[in-house]
Amino acid sequence: MSRQRVGAHVSIADGFPAAVSQIQEYGGNCGQVFVGSPRTWSVSSVDSSDATAFAELQATEDVRPWIVHGTYLINFATPNDDLAEKSVATVQEELNKASKLGIDYYTFHPGAHTGAGVEKGIRNIGSRLSELDIPDGMTVLLENTAGGGTSLGSTFQQLQEMRIRSEIDNDQLGVCIDSCHLYAAGYDFTTTTGLTEMVGEIEQTVGLDAIQYLHLNDSKHPCGSNKDEHQHIGKGQIGTTGFSKLINHDAFTDLPMVLETPVDEKGYAWNISQIQSLYDT
Ligand SMILES: [Zn+2]
Ligand SMILES: [Zn+2]
Repeated sequence: MSRQRVGAHVSIADGFPAAVSQIQEYGGNCGQVFVGSPRTWSVSSVDSSDATAFAELQATEDVRPWIVHGTYLINFATPNDDLAEKSVATVQEELNKASKLGIDYYTFHPGAHTGAGVEKGIRNIGSRLSELDIPDGMTVLLENTAGGGTSLGSTFQQLQEMRIRSEIDNDQLGVCIDSCHLYAAGYDFTTTTGLTEMVGEIEQTVGLDAIQYLHLNDSKHPCGSNKDEHQHIGKGQIGTTGFSKLINHDAFTDLPMVLETPVDEKGYAWNISQIQSLYDT
């Protein structure tokens, strides 16, 4: 039996237990959800029977681990105090909700400095992370970004600086790698040399243990373009060879992976089977 964990980002519109069956229909065995509306500040409340059912299903159906993706409005790097306060409160609420659902991981985009400068932005992220009370058993993962505009976190060096600046125990503060963002940020892991260099850079910065979840998306744009547009696996600039190298590398192969590929005629079932076919047996 394969130990590999591949799933997709699914909706909770029909409740959390339905999200588990959705993953199973796609042929996956782990998943990602939003716990609120991703483009607003609202975090919906969790029905406790729904939460209990979801927590149980994860184990009985063996669909796990789950990861919550934070709302897109969060900005821990901002020089704007109101926005920062709202961001911290929202992440805390989402963390509490994830914990109630028995979810182990939470990831979000660290934010954009919007003119305050890289140094100041990273310091802001560190101090705002320090305000969080991470529930027991949960791990917060900073997602690497494509590096467009003033967004921070497009290099492992920056992600490590954020971890150093925060007072959170680094066991509870790791990294979620998005393959499209990596590639757009200039990491060409599609060649053996490029992949080796990138893994070396990870070892020198956050460390391999920090990487705990992967987002698998192909990229519509070239390496180093800083443009974040996801494409179906193998249909973008990364291609099947690139994914095959990435997911079979010792550093990543045992990690849970979810797809955030476009939702159109191909769908998640197709993308999940693409990934499954690329694993070395
Ligand atoms: Zn993301
Ligand atoms: Zn992502």
